[in-house]
Amino acid sequence: MIQTDIVIIGAGPVGLFTVFEAGLLKLRCHLIDSLPEPGGQLIEIYPKKPIYDIPGYPVVNAGDLIARLMEQIGVFKPGFTLGETVTKLEETADQKFIVTTNKGTMHQAPIVIIAGGLGVFEPRKPPIENLAAFEDKGVEYIIKDPELYRDKNVVISGGGDSALDWTIYLSEKKIAGKIALVHRRTSFRGHLDSVQKVMDLAAAGQIDLITDAEVVGIQPRDGGHLGAVLIKHSTLGDVVRPADHFIPLFGLTPSLGPIADWGLDIEKNAVKVDTFDYSTSRKGIYAVGDINTYPGKLKLILCGFHEGTLAVQSAFARIYPNKKNVLKYTTVNGVSGF
Ligand SMILES: Cc1cc2nc3c(=O)[nH]c(=O)nc-3n(C[C@H](O)[C@H](O)[C@H](O)COP(=O)(O)OP(=O)(O)OC[C@H]3O[C@@H](n4cnc5c(N)ncnc54)[C@H](O)[C@@H]3O)c2cc1C
Repeated sequence: MIQTDIVIIGAGPVGLFTVFEAGLLKLRCHLIDSLPEPGGQLIEIYPKKPIYDIPGYPVVNAGDLIARLMEQIGVFKPGFTLGETVTKLEETADQKFIVTTNKGTMHQAPIVIIAGGLGVFEPRKPPIENLAAFEDKGVEYIIKDPELYRDKNVVISGGGDSALDWTIYLSEKKIAGKIALVHRRTSFRGHLDSVQKVMDLAAAGQIDLITDAEVVGIQPRDGGHLGAVLIKHSTLGDVVRPADHFIPLFGLTPSLGPIADWGLDIEKNAVKVDTFDYSTSRKGIYAVGDINTYPGKLKLILCGFHEGTLAVQSAFARIYPNKKNVLKYTTVNGVSGF
């Protein structure tokens, strides 16, 4: 059981900055995220896009902002449980919460802050019969550990940044033995640089680029592991291609997921909060960032930073009802970590 002062569900920008504000109050945090790395939408959806409305940064790339937030909170040594989805939230008799993930990791804290953004990102799956039977047996929707593909025969499918970037990465780093990128169109939705790089790799024979085509079937080899994919090509017809791994990267769709079942007041797929301290309808549970709703709510990073700041002040008062908390400027007190 991981013990901490505050369990933060969601390691997007708002969850990350909340760690900093909690740290200033000497409250320890542990973050849980279903994605394999911190950053939420900024890393998952638009890592290379410039953001122009973060105070003090005339422009900052989303990926860079997350890197700076990670640097800023490092001093407070937050814990991370990544690649796991919180499925269960229970309250103990002494008013603590036990937060459990789909992999059974348990966390205990007197305060829970939900910074779940748009909810859990569920991968969009291609409509292939028996696909589910091959999940974790050669079919993956998110690349968590590139080493899994070392010297393997890999087929990636998709036309966005994720499909392009991973094709480039697995090829350029010489990780995959063989790699094919299958896309149903000839044009790609991704970054122009990445499209060009994929074209160059294909021209150099480093990857097989198969466009105007779709993976429509999968076949096992001995032991029930994926052995081959069936590719339907608009002009060449059906082709069976041996594959150890098939990775459809068709993007992720958000859903509130298990958070909807925790007895919180929900409105329009978001958690209702009191704007005094961003507390939810359950004492000890707060909701900050894109996941919450209140009159005038704006889904902006800047607003989430403010919400997290006020939530931890209230959390402090709940954990230490007899301690007075006086606001101290960082210019006066500095930042002393754990
Ligand atoms: C294309 C695009 C451009 C944008 N541009 C701007 C901009 O210029 N300026 C701006 O201010 N905002 C912008 N936004 C909005 C901004 O990205 C969001 O406001 C911000 O990401 C919200 O941060 P968050 O931490 O609340 O949530 P998120 O970034 O969504 O992170 C939430 C995290 O919680 C995790 N999670 C959810 N439920 C669970 C669970 N049950 N268990 C474990 N983990 C869970 C998710 O996996 C996710 O990683 C943009 C958004 C998009 C899509």
